Amino acid sequence: MKILLAAILFFSGSIASVHALEQDRETCGNGAQQGALVLCQLMPSDKIWLDGREVMVAANGMTVFGIARDQLSAELLIKRPGHEDVKKQLLFESRAYQIERVNGLPPKTVTVPDGWKKRRAIENGRVAAGRAVVSADQYWRAVFLRPAEGRISGVYGSQRILNGKPRSPHYGLDIANDVGTPVRAPATGIVRLAASDFLLEGGIVIIDHGHGVTSTLFHMDTVIVKEGDIIDQGDPIGTIGAKGRASGPHVDWRMNWLNVRLDPGLAIGISDEKSGAIVDENN
Ligand SMILES: [Zn+2]
Repeated sequence: MKILLAAILFFSGSIASVHALEQDRETCGNGAQQGALVLCQLMPSDKIWLDGREVMVAANGMTVFGIARDQLSAELLIKRPGHEDVKKQLLFESRAYQIERVNGLPPKTVTVPDGWKKRRAIENGRVAAGRAVVSADQYWRAVFLRPAEGRISGVYGSQRILNGKPRSPHYGLDIANDVGTPVRAPATGIVRLAASDFLLEGGIVIIDHGHGVTSTLFHMDTVIVKEGDIIDQGDPIGTIGAKGRASGPHVDWRMNWLNVRLDPGLAIGISDEKSGAIVDENN
């Protein structure tokens, strides 16, 4: 099925900010792009809060948090024994997102029928639980890998109009390729959710990279890992499919810091600019 991905780009500033913005105690997070993961080198004895939410600091002083799609600022508080507190308002770099029209989706997946609601509640609960784990691992420090070969057919942040109906934004990076194309772990981690048949996601895997940073991959045709598995970066976890809310075979890669949805494109250096202004393709 043909899909028109009409993309309108407005750049409000530089797109040079990096995904893994490694900073120190004084600058931690300031100037980060919306959708970015921020890494800061602190002292092991430091304690840090972002908008009142305590953020884990590792034994080596590293900490990580994420910036939401539309977040413009946050209150940062860092406490270090014997020092004055760092308390400041962080300002983030705003982005303009594409407008994406997707037609030809199965109607049930666009407006979820009443009969699906109970099952969706269970599935949503499993996804939320899979993303809520805060483990001490620091696999988020690695350079992430693109999880599959193929065309980029959807990007983070797009305003979506599904079968003509305005919907919430798209938060993933879509990579389209043939059914059966291997999907690999973008970084090392522990599998927190593995299921083959979610209503909207089809085959879905959540990988915990530590400190609440997760990758979610879905629309998979097959899933070959199970919950609790420890997988290395690049290990196959399943194959590309068109299950769930998909009009053609692709994998949708999401990246989260807890419930904050981040841009996986930033993690592998794909900017809005590179994704192309107007494409017409299968999603
Ligand atoms: Zn998608």
